[in-house]
Amino acid sequence: MIRVGVLGALGRMGAEVCRAVIADPETALVAAIDPRAAGEKITVSDGGTIVVSDEIDTLSQAEADVAVDFTHPDAVMDDVRWCVRHAMHCVVGTTGLGDTDLDAIRALIDEEGNESNVFVAPNFAIGAVLMVRFAAAAARHFPHVEIIEMHHDGKADAPSGTALATARIRDLARGGTLEGISIHSIRLPGLVAHQEVILGSPGQTLTIRHDSVERSSFMPGVLLAVKNIQRHPGLTIGLETLLD
Ligand code: NAP
Repeated sequence: MIRVGVLGALGRMGAEVCRAVIADPETALVAAIDPRAAGEKITVSDGGTIVVSDEIDTLSQAEADVAVDFTHPDAVMDDVRWCVRHAMHCVVGTTGLGDTDLDAIRALIDEEGNESNVFVAPNFAIGAVLMVRFAAAAARHFPHVEIIEMHHDGKADAPSGTALATARIRDLARGGTLEGISIHSIRLPGLVAHQEVILGSPGQTLTIRHDSVERSSFMPGVLLAVKNIQRHPGLTIGLETLLD
């Protein structure tokens, strides 16, 4: 049984992760951290309860094996640092981490030299991973690409982590002659997470679109990361690294 603690447990994603971890026979929810309503109770699979805490130290007190972070771009780096320093694996879904942050995580893991592995994915939905793959394949034949990403109006960062990762198809297209890739961000109530990659060449366009219409779309990917993180030393980026 993998013991899981969730950071941001009362948020839109964190609450869904708590439910998924409780429902999976291979994982157990042992800690829930969120400053939004510390003291609130979450009922777990054996009928017991977990009390939501606003203290990250609850993760070590609960002897969690893996922490899952769906918090806020301003909070995530402190959480990752805490996990690495406490030799705890950390699955990060929070977006907004840039190359400098990822370099800092690698450096910290090297410096601490302990058993903590960190897994970061800007998008845990399998359909989104495939969208990026298909776009990379298409980009070999289409020199012009633009991305439209659409999210709910509560999303803190723009452009989305998925859009930034998709824009790197220029590297994936190897030898392609893509122009600079523009990203257009839309934030509206009613949306969850959606993206279109539109490729153009004279006389034709190709549109590749992915829609997460419910947050349940991310849960198989999150659980896959939780179950595999201990086999991936250091920092691993992207759900695609676990799929093949
Ligand atoms: P949300 O509803 O605002 O939830 C975030 C929760 O984290 C809130 O309850 C917040 O409390 C709490 N929080 C803030 N700082 C914290 C800390 N230091 N420790 C513990 N909890 C803390 O946001 P969301 O929609 O769930 O999204 C969370 C993140 O996941 C965002 O970065 C979003 O872009 C990302 N996301 C990623 C994926 C993916 O597949 N990788 C998919 C969807 C969303 P307060 O409200 O009190 O601040």
